[in-house]
Amino acid sequence: MALNLFIREHELVWEEPEIHVVRVPYAHLGLAHTNCYIMRSGDDVLVIDPGVRSVRAGLVLAGAAKSIGIDLDQARYLCTHLHFDHAAMLKELAHPGAQILLGEAAYFNNPWNHYDKRKALLRDVLRKEGVPSVSMRGLAAYMSEVRVCDLPDRVYKLLSEGDVVRVGPHAMRVVETPGHTRGHICLFSEEEGFLISGDHVLEEITTGLSLPFEGDDSTRDYLDSLDKVGALSCRAVLPGHGEAFFDLTGRIDQMREHHALRLGQVYETVALNPEARGHQITRVMPWKKRGPFKDWGRLNPYLRLSMLTQMLSYLEFLVRAGEIERLEDDTARRYRIA
Ligand SMILES: [Zn+2]
Repeated sequence: MALNLFIREHELVWEEPEIHVVRVPYAHLGLAHTNCYIMRSGDDVLVIDPGVRSVRAGLVLAGAAKSIGIDLDQARYLCTHLHFDHAAMLKELAHPGAQILLGEAAYFNNPWNHYDKRKALLRDVLRKEGVPSVSMRGLAAYMSEVRVCDLPDRVYKLLSEGDVVRVGPHAMRVVETPGHTRGHICLFSEEEGFLISGDHVLEEITTGLSLPFEGDDSTRDYLDSLDKVGALSCRAVLPGHGEAFFDLTGRIDQMREHHALRLGQVYETVALNPEARGHQITRVMPWKKRGPFKDWGRLNPYLRLSMLTQMLSYLEFLVRAGEIERLEDDTARRYRIA
């Protein structure tokens, strides 16, 4: 059987400017793929979120580039954030001399800049939140960000709120949308009304919130970022996963409801389990798919860490809102109703 070297898994999603979505395969946690957007105007090509780094992903991207008729070696690259499912392929595709556009906050908060410090901080938070040392090994080493901020000979261009990214004559405005990660950005075309939303707003799945372990409040940031994109005159959303969709404000309302419901559940769980730690709260919380968890240790480390992260983000929000109290000493953090 001949190997199909050029699997075509892409389509044109916007005509002017020309935008193709490439569905970069990504078999992880039920997400089938990451959407890589290739924008072209004349010779100017911008590749947004090239996706995971794998042989199959490489074949899909190469096949798409061939059929669209672009040379990936001549392209510029942009990532909405540095999670591995969006940015890992940069290493492979962004050739020496290529321009890489990243959110300024993503670039400077990249955990690889201070790997040891971040790992120690994470370990400390996990320990205080009650994660047993046996399950900590897999978690504390985990980084969802990839190391792509120090690739030699690439030209980094850092973006912040209001900056304009052009592809040929077409302009898109940078909208900083922290919450999913600290440095997450979206791109908005005023002229055409499309929003390239990364993981900030997805139609089919709920956006995860980042671990609030360095004094940030990712739930607050996320809700504020929803307000920000909700105020745009957006006609269509081109998300990082799943299909493009039209009703941004409707989806934002659903997300608000979802987070309000979850915050209420966290509050109730704290009320029912006074002085519990974050790990225990995560395990007894109702989860749509498989909770409450008795076989926590059997879940893969990524899933465990993202569930815990979500809960710690909510707990931080409720502490700051004065709804619950956090008691903290050198060994433990415990929560109770304020
Ligand atoms: Zn993603």
